[in-house]
Amino acid sequence: MSEARVDLHTHSTASDGSLAPAELVRAAARREVTLLALTDHDTTAGLAEAADQCAAAGIRFVPGVEATCQWREREIHVVGLAMDAAHPALQDHLRAVLGLRRARLAALCARLDALGLPGSAIHTECAALAAPTRTHVARALVMHGAAADLEEAFERWLGRKGRAWVRAEWPELAVAVGAIKAAGGIAVLAHPHRYRCSGGQLRELCAAFSAAGGRAIEVSLAGMGPGDTASACSLARRFDLAGSLGSDFHDPGLPWRPLGRFVKLPEGITPVTALLDCAPRPGS
Ligand code: AMP
Ligand code: MN
Ligand code: MN
Ligand code: MN
Repeated sequence: MSEARVDLHTHSTASDGSLAPAELVRAAARREVTLLALTDHDTTAGLAEAADQCAAAGIRFVPGVEATCQWREREIHVVGLAMDAAHPALQDHLRAVLGLRRARLAALCARLDALGLPGSAIHTECAALAAPTRTHVARALVMHGAAADLEEAFERWLGRKGRAWVRAEWPELAVAVGAIKAAGGIAVLAHPHRYRCSGGQLRELCAAFSAAGGRAIEVSLAGMGPGDTASACSLARRFDLAGSLGSDFHDPGLPWRPLGRFVKLPEGITPVTALLDCAPRPGS
């Protein structure tokens, strides 16, 4: 395990990544990844293609998803790993979230129209996507010349302080964890360092996550500093959660999220891979 290159958090064109699932797997193979999860936002549409390509490349594949949800009105992401992607409880859940995504897209594009930007055109471009995200809208805004790059598109228009910000009512954290569990998956609290919570709030979040059946927390993700990892490890120990790791890779053009970056889990943390080994495998 210590020599394995593990990446358990990645995105493809099935959500807001820029590589198709098979391309993502080929890029992972070039980086000598041996264990890979595809975890697109609220969709499992890319998993079959990624699984096939992993089989061809000799990479062990973990089916995954990154479920958008909320806890105390704060947006939280939960990565599901090694679930039965076809399970009806999971698919029903994801269908509902994708419905919320489409409704938010329409509201957001209406705001863009009201701001004199080509919201209707962007809506037409994005509405057909299985999992429309703000990243798609940001790319379209850049294409239409309304922002120089994605960062500016979020800052000026789409981010929390942007002029076209629309708040979505995502499903509750416990509901998302429940759907992943029902499908036999391991629920992992994603990127705890990004929630802008106090230490006390993070502990309450982890308590709620654990009570709902969450099993692991990301302790080593690209973009996490040593202090972030130390805090996440202390949460892992306190709430008896395993540690997960990955890149949150979206695009080869974003070098600060390198696919398959090689990291070691800190001492004293149970690797989430130990839980994956006993999780039911798809098809078994
Ligand atoms: P959504 O889940 O539709 O709200 O879209 C959020 C996605 O936008 C995240 O998964 C990130 O990939 C991306 N994102 C969020 N903030 C930024 C930012 N400031 N710059 C670039 N991408 C961002
Ligand atoms: Mn994303
Ligand atoms: Mn996320
Ligand atoms: Mn992600």
